[in-house]
Amino acid sequence: MPIHPVRSSTDQVFMSFVRELARSPQVLHILTGLRDGHQPDPHGWCNHPSHTHRWEPHPCSSLRLAELVEDDRYRRQQGRS
Ligand SMILES: [Zn+2]
Repeated sequence: MPIHPVRSSTDQVFMSFVRELARSPQVLHILTGLRDGHQPDPHGWCNHPSHTHRWEPHPCSSLRLAELVEDDRYRRQQGRS
């Protein structure tokens, strides 16, 4: 057994978070919440109020997270994960 546990990469930690969201019984509610109100403005920025103090190109990080969760959920339903 190693003295120091093997650290997971940031990507591995993030994708395990995505999988946990995808497997949540509330996944549809979570996806709705992640996507609600995130629309592009005429200049291609997301106009959701949560981005008021920083610019987020559309699709923003919230929408990209929702896409990853939806993809993982779909793969799991198809028996591919
Ligand atoms: Zn947004």
